[in-house]
Amino acid sequence: MILYEFVCSQCGHAFEEFQKASGEAVQCPECRSGQVKRLLSAVRCARSSGSSGASEPACAPGGFS
Ligand SMILES: [Zn+2]
Repeated sequence: MILYEFVCSQCGHAFEEFQKASGEAVQCPECRSGQVKRLLSAVRCARSSGSSGASEPACAPGGFS
């Protein structure tokens, strides 16, 4: 299985989850919103070297509230 990273569009919570089946909806564990955005796999703190990576909190330490 592949662990994907998601960011909730509602509350901004970043989390990781295994995707079980393709197209399966993923909910935010914080606010139960389905408005989540999947990041590229293994995007852990990848330094977005100037290429428009500023908008995504890919480096959020998880406790960001
Ligand atoms: Zn959320």
